[in-house]
Amino acid sequence: MNEQKVRRETVSRRVILTGTALALGAAATGAAATRAEAQQKISQANAKYQDHPNGAQECDGCIQFQPPNSCKIVDGTINPKGWCQFFGAKS
Ligand code: SF4
Repeated sequence: MNEQKVRRETVSRRVILTGTALALGAAATGAAATRAEAQQKISQANAKYQDHPNGAQECDGCIQFQPPNSCKIVDGTINPKGWCQFFGAKS
């Protein structure tokens, strides 16, 4: 094996290893971010969540609602006809 070929293979291995390390790092960061988001949700009790509307306001019409039964900021199962103090009307 000549010197140029050895050098080329060494560089290729380095590129592959570096790329793998970066990909693993990005995956770990993404997983940590997802866990952090999940942990940062407000409890239903602290949000004063109720499973029925507050007048005309209900989760189904809130910008935080995620069909079919989740909320971006309040933890747990969310009734589309529920409500909490953080209601924000969809425009
Ligand atoms: S009113 Fe909005 S913020 Fe509150 S639980 Fe329902 S969807 Fe989430």
